[in-house]
This record gives sequence, structure tokens and C-alpha cells, in this order.
Amino acid sequence: MVDLLERRVWDSAFYSLGWSRGDSATAVHEPATGEELGQVRMASREDVRAAAEAAGAAQPEWGKQRYDVRGAVLRGAAAAMDSHREEILRWLIRESGSTRAKADFEFALARSELLGAAAMLFEPDGVTLPSSVPGQTSVARRVPLGVVGVIAPWNYPLILSMRSVAPALALGNAVILKPATDTPVCSGFTIARIFEEAGLPEGVLHVLPGKGSEAGSALAEDGRIDMVSFTGSTSVGSTIGEAAGRTLKRVALELGGNNPHIVLPDADAKAAAAGGAFGQFFHQGQTCMAIGRHLVAESLADAYVEELVRKAEGLRVGDPYQDPKADFGPIINQSQIDSMDEIVQDAVAAGAGLRTGGRGEGLFYRPTVLTDVNPAMRAFSEEIFGPVAVVTTYRDEQEAVELANRTEHGLTSGVHSRDPQHALAVGQQLDVNMVHVNDQSVNDEVVAPFGGRRASGNGTSFGTTSNWEEFTQWHWTTVQETPLTYPI
Ligand code: NAP
Ligand code: MG
Repeated sequence: MVDLLERRVWDSAFYSLGWSRGDSATAVHEPATGEELGQVRMASREDVRAAAEAAGAAQPEWGKQRYDVRGAVLRGAAAAMDSHREEILRWLIRESGSTRAKADFEFALARSELLGAAAMLFEPDGVTLPSSVPGQTSVARRVPLGVVGVIAPWNYPLILSMRSVAPALALGNAVILKPATDTPVCSGFTIARIFEEAGLPEGVLHVLPGKGSEAGSALAEDGRIDMVSFTGSTSVGSTIGEAAGRTLKRVALELGGNNPHIVLPDADAKAAAAGGAFGQFFHQGQTCMAIGRHLVAESLADAYVEELVRKAEGLRVGDPYQDPKADFGPIINQSQIDSMDEIVQDAVAAGAGLRTGGRGEGLFYRPTVLTDVNPAMRAFSEEIFGPVAVVTTYRDEQEAVELANRTEHGLTSGVHSRDPQHALAVGQQLDVNMVHVNDQSVNDEVVAPFGGRRASGNGTSFGTTSNWEEFTQWHWTTVQETPLTYPI
């Protein structure tokens, strides 16, 4: 079988730009070892401009293509993933520092995105409307937006690109994808290659690795691009929103989180801590849905922390490519290590307890538990985006809710209690878009609406329940059998 991804130098653009060459190359490194995995040519502003033009030219025909033909391309892309499964998993492990379990989880979700998007094409795409005019036919249909730009992060590079690319293509749009510079293969080339194998027509998908400050901002600013779907940090998201406002394009912003994990006094402390460990340490805490703060009833704090520390110390840390059984791998790059370590050091200097962990070797940061954290510390107020559990205790339920909502973010949450209805009642007081009772916050299903509010996003959602809203626009037509007579 032809390898999907094995080539040492990738060119910058895909399809109508014919894997054309960009001007500058950048190396892709394996975070666990520092080894260079290949070189990628980076797209310039001029490449983005050319891609926008080519995508705009190719989109109308794709948008008019029969729904079952478009669906077959999406299913073909899922089949291409299946035939190259091990290769894609290997790249997820090596390029993004994923454990095998995380790579499996991400692969399965990305594949479901393709099948879910294909299934949408068998749903009604509009409604007939009542009309006050006798004999009038009034119809509203969902039509493509045109060209959709996707800007993706490095943490879940395949799924966070795919959840925009798949529905946008299925619903008849052309797409320009700018993957994260740390993971151009998993968040970019993989997607280009599987759609190439699936027979997507030329010009409909463009994959342009490039620097955020150059290719990314060019995408946000280009007036020929009708929508930008951005997943990444709150600070970059707000500049994207600003540029989208200037060019009047639709914008979907999926940003950071600082998610509460509330353990109520009647919870099973051990079970809550086991979930808490997963929600904290899965993919080394580099998950927007990861637990940001463990808010634990004072009466359970000792039992909870003891179990959390036990879990943290029991994790098998290692290079997940060399050791497939590792359940904790490297952090993506040095600047992430430095920023999380600074927050940990600040907290310790301000009186927090470092119960386990702290800086390790190279890009391996040890699973860390901080106790006695209070809202004045950055560890409480900022998104750490790493394997650092922040534990804060509270006296009563009102304080728990107040602490949980003391953040600019509003993404997801977990609430534990032996009385699930009680936990749900607490969860409904949280200013977030997602609540998981007797579970932790890292939950994603392609059929569920996924998105954040306030600093976590602009209220848009991904998921097959919401993709029609995001990736199409309404088009209203009326038809009279004969022209109407008007009074003037
Ligand atoms: P980031 O720095 O915002 O980067 C995300 C993407 O934006 C990358 O492709 C980046 O390109 C690009 N970019 C950077 N500066 C840009 C600019 N000025 N204009 C246009 N594009 C630009 O985020 P990150 O550090 O990669 O990812 C971590 C953050 O993403 C965390 O805050 C996390 O919570 C959030 N996140 C949110 C979700 C969600 O669904 N809500 C999911 C995952 C992650 P380069 O790679 O070239 O910098
Ligand atoms: Mg960044």
C-alpha cells in the first residue's frame, strides 16, 4: 500500500495549487525525542490569496453536486482513514506526543465526523413555509456559505481540524485549512491526503501550513473567505473575531477553558478523584475541556487529594512511540513548559502545596498536584493547559458555585454527588455550555453540540446537531403562479 504521509519534504499547498512549493521550510519535531520528522514548506500571504481565489472558483460546482455524490466522498475519506489507520496513529503519537489511547480516541472521533457529516446529507435541507399570499410556494433552504477557512491548534490536531472540514465540505463549501505549525501533518496533510484518496475534486480543499501571524491572519482578513472557524487560544481568537468583523464574515470561535470539577460533600471521593485524574492528566492536560480547578468540599479534601496524588504518581510516563503502554507523554513544546512552570512556581511562592510533580526532564513535565490554591493565584484564574491539578476547597454549596463561576471562561464542567439530581441542580447554576454529572469534563461526541461561551467562545457549536447552523446560510424563495396585483 502507498504510504499516506511518508515524504520528508511536504510542499505548501494542495489540490488546485498542485502541492506547490512555498518559499520557506520549517522543521517538524517529535516532542518526546526532539528528532526532526520532516520539513514543511510554509504558505505566504500570497499563497492564501491564490487559494482563496481557486477555492472560490471551485466551490459553486461542488455546492451543486448531488448530495449522494458528496456523501460518497465523505465516506470515502473515512474508508481512507481505515486503510491507513496505523500510519495515522503513528503520526498522532510522534508529531503531537499522543499516547496510544489518546491517538485511538482522536482517530475514532475524526472518523465519526466524516460519517456524521455524510449522514447529514440524507436529512432535509430546508422547509416549506406558510404564506399569507394565496397560491404562493414559499421555501427556505440551507445553502453553502462559499469558502470556509479553518484555523486549527496542535493539541488534538486531527479532530479539531476535521470537525470543521468534514461538515463544511459535506454541506457544499470549499475549504482552506491552516494547520498549527507544531502539527502540520496531523492537522493538515493527513486530511489533504485522505480527501485526495477519496476523490474530492481539485480546488475544493486547500491545506496551507503557515505561521499564524502570516497565513492565519491573511485567512481571517481575506474578503473572499466567507467564514473562519477558529480553534485555539482566547487571545488569538479575539483578533480573529476583530478581523472577521472588518470583513463581515461569519466566525466560529472555540477557545480556552478553565473548567470546574465540583465534588459535593456527599460524593464518592475516590470515584470523583479517579475521574478527576483522567480529566486532568489525559493528553498531559493539553485539552480545552481539561479540568482547570478541582473544587472539593472541605470534608472530603484529604481523601480526594490522597487518591488524586496516588493516581498521578501511578501514571506511566514515557515516550509513547517507544512505549505503547505509556499513559502520559511529552508536552508539545518548551514555551508551554515554561509558561505552566511559571504558574506553578508562583502558586508555590504564594503558599500553595506542591503535593507531587513539578518540572521533569526535557519536554516531560511530571503529573502535578497543587493544593490550597486560592482565587488570587494565577493557578486558579488562568488556563494552565498542562498536567497540573489545582485543588481548592470550599465550605458550602453556594461558595462552590461562586468559585466555579469565578472565571472568564465558560466551556464545560463536572459535578459529583451520590444524588445525581442534586448534582444536576448545582450544574445548572454554572455559567458554562456543558455539564457532566458524576463524570469529568473531557467529553466529546460528534452528535452533541460542542462549544463555549464568554472567553471560551462566541456561542457557536460543532456537532451534527449544530453543523447546519454553522456551515450553511438560509436562502428564501417564493414562487407565484402569476404576478400579484399591488395597490400602488
Ligand atoms: P493558538 O496560539 O491560538 O493557535 C491556534 C491556531 O491559530 C494555530 O494554527 C496558530 O498558528 C494560529 N494563529 C496564531 N496566531 C494567529 C494570528 N495572529 N492570526 C491567525 N491565526 C493565528 O492556540 P494554541 O496555543 O495552538 O492552542 C491552545 C489553545 O487552544 C488553548 O487555549 C486551548 O484551550 C484552546 N483550545 C480550545 C478548544 C475548544 O474547542 N474550545 C480546543 C482545543 C484548544 P501557529 O501554529 O503558526 O501559531
Ligand atoms: Mg500559540
